[in-house]
Formats: sequence, structure tokens, C-alpha cells
Amino acid sequence: MASTKCSRLLPRRARPQLQRLASRPYSAAARATEFLQTHSPDLTESQKAVREAIGKICQKYPDEYWLAREKSKEFPADFYHDLAKGGWLGICLPEKYGGSGLGLAEASTMMQTIAESGGGMQAASAVHINIFGLEPVAKFGTEQQKKRFLEPLIAGRERACFAVTEPNTGLDTLKLQSKAVRNGDHYVLSGQKIWITTAQTAQKILILARTTPISQVKKSSEGLSLFYTDLNDSLPIQITEIDKMDRGAIDSNSVFFDGWKVPCRDRIGDEGHGFKLIMHGMNAERILIGCEALGLGYAALRRAALYSNERVVFGRPIGQNQAIQHPLADSWMNLEAARLVLAQATRMYDDGYPGGEYANAGKYLAAEAAFKACERAVMCHGGMGYAKEYHVERYLREVLIPRIAPVTKEMICNYIGQRVLGLPKSY
Ligand SMILES: Cc1cc2nc3c(=O)[nH]c(=O)nc-3n(C[C@H](O)[C@H](O)[C@H](O)COP(=O)(O)OP(=O)(O)OC[C@H]3O[C@@H](n4cnc5c(N)ncnc54)[C@H](O)[C@@H]3O)c2cc1C
Repeated sequence: MASTKCSRLLPRRARPQLQRLASRPYSAAARATEFLQTHSPDLTESQKAVREAIGKICQKYPDEYWLAREKSKEFPADFYHDLAKGGWLGICLPEKYGGSGLGLAEASTMMQTIAESGGGMQAASAVHINIFGLEPVAKFGTEQQKKRFLEPLIAGRERACFAVTEPNTGLDTLKLQSKAVRNGDHYVLSGQKIWITTAQTAQKILILARTTPISQVKKSSEGLSLFYTDLNDSLPIQITEIDKMDRGAIDSNSVFFDGWKVPCRDRIGDEGHGFKLIMHGMNAERILIGCEALGLGYAALRRAALYSNERVVFGRPIGQNQAIQHPLADSWMNLEAARLVLAQATRMYDDGYPGGEYANAGKYLAAEAAFKACERAVMCHGGMGYAKEYHVERYLREVLIPRIAPVTKEMICNYIGQRVLGLPKSY
């Protein structure tokens, strides 16, 4: 339950709402948002308050809302603006620019709760970039850039997308081929990106491009630069939506650009140091996406448990059969184990630990545990698992995202093999 003390830690605009919630001893909102982790025994007071407040907002956007959005393919602007109104879009960004300056611990709870509410990856992806995507701007931008870029983002007036992946180089990020050539007070960008989430609807783009050819740098991580700049129809940029399996409300795109002038004042940090800046937020991003996977896994498990209690075949609830009950129990244990690794990674990140082993391991474990939970939820619904009205088929489609992005399970194993076990680099 939210206490007055912890509500001091929360977004300013969320505080009155939290105080009202706190004055009710055990609100319906709290009951509805505790879901499967009924007691959430290890959450801090401020995480519990975040969970309760976000859960209350998400109650306005139930599964049926997300199912309808998936069909209509409309960006969930009302959901987004509700979060902005409550001050949640700047949960981790500095108070000076309208954010709340909280830690990754609170942001993780927020993203898990959003996904767990039934919003899944559609809801999480609508706000994901706001939560940690602008970390390079917040950490390495000039005072003028922070004011110019963070304030409208936190207030919900501007939305951003994040463009690193390229069609020809994929996970081999350092070989990316997009170029930015300096010409006086601007750069000229040319190249292509793929899978760029919300490029159709965002007004800003954070983009990584090569400013020094790879043949002229000592290390391939040098010579890349980062820009945060405008994205609109008047620019020489072609954005084409990719027809895909899930998240209808959230567009994914290929982005092609040629002769695109980007002012030097939109470059973040020093020229040639962009990769280091991007790396800075990577552990946080893995943790957040892991938490989103957890949310989906718990949502699937909740539906599986409800259905298994209600559905009677052969004269008894199907959940009385151990073939149904045990896989669900196993999934809860696996989700909780992943949650604990993610919680450990989050604590270490908030304490300034720079290593990536726990963030990567947590993201891997959460995505795999959530995938299994979603698959089992579909199977225990029998034929109804295939019907959209039970929502578990949507969860199963969406849970593939955290297995693929922002880094695949194979690349995480490569990382652990090399960095933790000291094995030879395999790629
Ligand atoms: C829904 C969605 C949203 C996304 N949003 C964004 C976004 O907003 N911005 C952005 O920049 N990107 C985004 N991405 C891209 C995403 O980060 C990449 O798809 C992901 O990093 C994988 O890259 P790739 O698709 O090029 O795979 P590839 O690099 O082509 O790899 C293909 C397969 O080969 C495996 N593989 C490759 N090399 C090795 C190796 N050495 N050892 C073992 N296995 C290997 C990979 O693990 C993978 O299974 C998104 C992707 C999806 C699906």
C-alpha cells in the first residue's frame, strides 16, 4: 500500500492520486493489480506504490481495449496521454526537466505492471522508449539539448523512436552502413534502418550513423555518432510499415533516407563516440524488456489459472488434473526465478554496477519463462486458446518480441560464454 513517505518518491503529478489511494485501507484497485504476486513481499514501498498507481491507470485499458487496438491499428494515444498526465513518462528522467528522477527499480515495476495488465507488448512498446531510451540525452546532452528534448517528451507533447538496426548488418551493429557526413553546420545522413518501432507516429528519432569510415578507425566501436532529431513528412525519409504478426497498434518500419540534413546541434555527445553512449543504456533496456516479458507471463498464467478453475470436463475442473496444474506451477516458479535475477540486476544497475551479466541473464530467463507460460496458457484453454476473445493467443504472439529484441537469446549466450565463462569469442 502506498505510504505518504514513498509517495514523495513518485512523479509529482501522481502524488495526490496516490495519497487518495493510500487513504483507502485495501482498495479494489490494489486487489486487482496485485494479480498473481499477491503479496509482492520483496517490493520496496516505492515499487508497491508504483504498482498500485500504474495498475489503477491500466484498469481503464483492459484486454478488450488492446484487442480492439490490435485490430484497428491505432496508436493508443489515450493510454499514452494518461501516463503523461500522471507524470509517468519521465519516471527515470531528471526532475529539472519535469521527470521524477526515480531509479530503474521503479521503472521496471512500472513496465511489468503495464504488460501484466493485459496491455502486453502493445502497451509496453507505446512508452518503452520514453522510459530509458533517452538516457544518452539525459546523461550526455548539453543543458540546452536536455531542455529542448526532455521537456516535451516527458510532458507527452513529443514521442520518440530509436533507430539502430540495419537490414544488411543486423546484430553486427558496429558494421552498420548508414553514413553521416559533416557539411558546415549540419550533417548529411544517408542509409537505411529496419524494425524501427513507432517511426510512423513519432516526431523525433534517436539515430546512430557512421561519421568516420570503419577502415579509418582503430576500433570498430569508434567513428559512430548519435543524433536526436526531427522526424516529419517534409524530410527526405521514406518510412514503410512492415506487415507483422502482432502489436497492430504499434507500427514497425523500414526507414530509408538520402540527403537528410541534420543540424550539428542535434548531435548528442562528441562526434565518433555514439556507440559508447548507446551502450550506456543497454543494460537498462534489457532489464526493462525482461520485466515486460515477465508481465506477459504472469498475465498468461493468471488467465490459465482462472480458466482451469472454471472449465469442467469429465465432471471436474481441468485444473484438478496434474497434467494441467503442474506445468502452471512450474511456470510460476520459473517466472519468479527470472524476476529475482532481474531484481538483482536492477539493484546493481541502480547502485552503479556497469557489468551486463545479470541484465542479460535476467532478460534471457524472463523471455524464456514467459514464452513457456504463454504457450501453456494457450494449451490449457484447449480450442479456446486459439480464440481471440480469451487473449492468450495474443500474449503468445507478443512474447516472441522479448526473445528477439533488442538482442536475441543466442547473442546473450555468446556474451555469457565469453564474458562470464572466459570462452573464446564465437562471433
Ligand atoms: C517487433 C520488433 C521491434 C523492434 N524494434 C526496434 C527498434 O525500435 N529499433 C531498432 O533499432 N531495432 C528494433 N528491432 C530490431 C531488433 O533489435 C533486431 O531484430 C534484433 O536485434 C535481431 O537482429 P536481426 O533481426 O538483424 O537478426 P540477425 O542479426 O539477422 O540474426 C538472425 C539470427 O541469427 C542469430 N545469429 C546471428 N549471429 C549469430 C552468432 N554469431 N552466434 C549465434 N547466433 C547468431 C541471431 O541470434 C538470430 O537468431 C525490433 C525487432 C522487432 C522484431
